[in-house]
Amino acid sequence: MSGPQVEAVVDLDAFAANIAAMAACAPSSALMTVVKADAYGHGAVPMARAARAAGSPWLGVATIEEALALRAAGDTGPLLCWLASPGADYASAVDAGVEVTASSAAQLAEIIAAARVRPRVQLKVDTGLSRNGALGEAWTQLAAAAATAQAAGRVEITGAWSHLACADEPAHPANDAQEAVFRDAVDELAAAGVEPGLRHLANSAATLSRPSAHFDLVRVGIAAYGIRPDPGMSYSTPLTPVLTLRARLAHVKRLRAGASVSYGHTWTAERDTTVGLVPMGYGDGIAVAASNRAQVQVGGARADVVGRVCMDQLVVDLGDRPAAAGDVAVLFGPGDDGEPTAEDWARASSTIAYEVVTRLGGRLVRTYRGDM
Ligand SMILES: *Cc1c(COP(=O)(O)O)cnc(C)c1O
Repeated sequence: MSGPQVEAVVDLDAFAANIAAMAACAPSSALMTVVKADAYGHGAVPMARAARAAGSPWLGVATIEEALALRAAGDTGPLLCWLASPGADYASAVDAGVEVTASSAAQLAEIIAAARVRPRVQLKVDTGLSRNGALGEAWTQLAAAAATAQAAGRVEITGAWSHLACADEPAHPANDAQEAVFRDAVDELAAAGVEPGLRHLANSAATLSRPSAHFDLVRVGIAAYGIRPDPGMSYSTPLTPVLTLRARLAHVKRLRAGASVSYGHTWTAERDTTVGLVPMGYGDGIAVAASNRAQVQVGGARADVVGRVCMDQLVVDLGDRPAAAGDVAVLFGPGDDGEPTAEDWARASSTIAYEVVTRLGGRLVRTYRGDM
């Protein structure tokens, strides 16, 4: 048996199907596939290419560096980024045809001053998340600054947008409140003399659950990777997890009852048992918090992670079943063959599935299956 000892197998056909399903959720809106943070751990460049091929007109990333990396890899389509500190390389972003976001009049001024050609800028309003975006009076100032600069031909305002705090709780009152603030902000911008361009508010959860928030474009991240924004959300859109994480056991041995496993001896065999060594640890993005809590699948059956997850390795309890070094352990996948899912690992490590996939990295080899 050959191949990488640790592998993330990424199913691009499932990714394309998820994108199509999300587009069907918001049939009157354009779709932006969000590929920030290395496409949530799936690999930014191949996922960006696959998203375009799947018919996603827009891509979104957080930083200018992420946007420029996609351009360097040959991406040319509509691309928005939204997180930049003073001194960011706006000139390169604008040269590369990347749309940038202004969250304040000062940021808009910096973008315009840095740009060598007229920049295409989207304006972000804070409607209640209290993260980025212009809030209250600052939005009034940003709208006025945008109107002046656009009238002078120094900028093209192409969008107005915001981000929801509680979209994964569809009944949360913050959703209605933020949507109302957003509508008022867009009206204020228009009244200041700026055609808002693309208006957008929805992430995956709001795309799935809140048609009133779809506006002109929906920004879909986690759902494109086939993961529910929240395990408590129910909807009819079919989504398939895209990533399967697997490793070949590096070592298998029999332990005597009473033997303890891994650093700190936090687990002790109650009876004679077989343990397998999975060559993955927190250096590859596996949470230490999953120690003694998560499961993997080996030979079609579940096996508990026992003892503490280490930097490079973790141990699983295989009981009395036959096993050998080289056998495949599936850490998580779509779940349809009985393997755990990223959601299961999230529960086992007291986090969210977003983090389980996004933190994958280090030595991990990614293999892409399906149409590229
Ligand atoms: C990450 C992000 C998204 C995507 O969110 P999901 O919940 O993964 O769909 C959308 N918009 C912005 C501004 C983001 O930062």
